Amino acid sequence: MALINDFLSLIYPKHCEACANLLHKHEMFLCTHCLLSLPRGKSLNQNSNTLHHVFEGRIPFQSVECLYVFEKEARVQKILHAIKYQGQKELAEYLGKLFAEQLSALQNTKPIDIIVPLPLHKNKLKIRGYNQSEWFAKGVATSLKIELDTSSLKKNKSTETQTRKKKYERWQNVEQVFELVNLKNFEHKHVLLLDDVITTGASIEAAYAPFKNIPGLTFSIGSIAFANKL
Ligand SMILES: [Zn+2]
Repeated sequence: MALINDFLSLIYPKHCEACANLLHKHEMFLCTHCLLSLPRGKSLNQNSNTLHHVFEGRIPFQSVECLYVFEKEARVQKILHAIKYQGQKELAEYLGKLFAEQLSALQNTKPIDIIVPLPLHKNKLKIRGYNQSEWFAKGVATSLKIELDTSSLKKNKSTETQTRKKKYERWQNVEQVFELVNLKNFEHKHVLLLDDVITTGASIEAAYAPFKNIPGLTFSIGSIAFANKL
């Protein structure tokens, strides 16, 4: 098997998904240089808490974390592009494993009980064939041995239809964009909602809406990247 893999990598050399440099045999998806130098989200939270500011006063959260930050960081953008548009779902799962290490280093937080990825609308899922946030969540859940729930939260309206509406209509509709079933399953649980990118926080806020009256719920948020527009 190793021989076949060596042979395949001769014909199809593997490149780093962030900087496009050739990968060494022991490297997967990202080169060691990128792994060490990409702008990590944990330093962001330590220094300025900008990611916290996105959700403060909007969602009562226990923790909000992202793996990477990108302002003008082209490499993070390339990673996201590969995950979303080039079918690189295994890369999303790999990043989930990296994120799991970041989460387990968090202190003073209640353990997570259930991981829920942000769902795609069924039409979009049909076109893309997979949900990148679900693959990211899968990496986190398997690493931390936490329940992964991919069926209780559903997206009923596509964002495309939403953006065509006037602003006040959009605001009225935000509460109904996502639907949650099996509500009992979330009572007194700590839920971690995972998305691929956080920018304004609007989709996370909409996805939180059906959770908000669940008794004893603790809520945390995570993403692959945070696009800092503040
Ligand atoms: Zn690289």
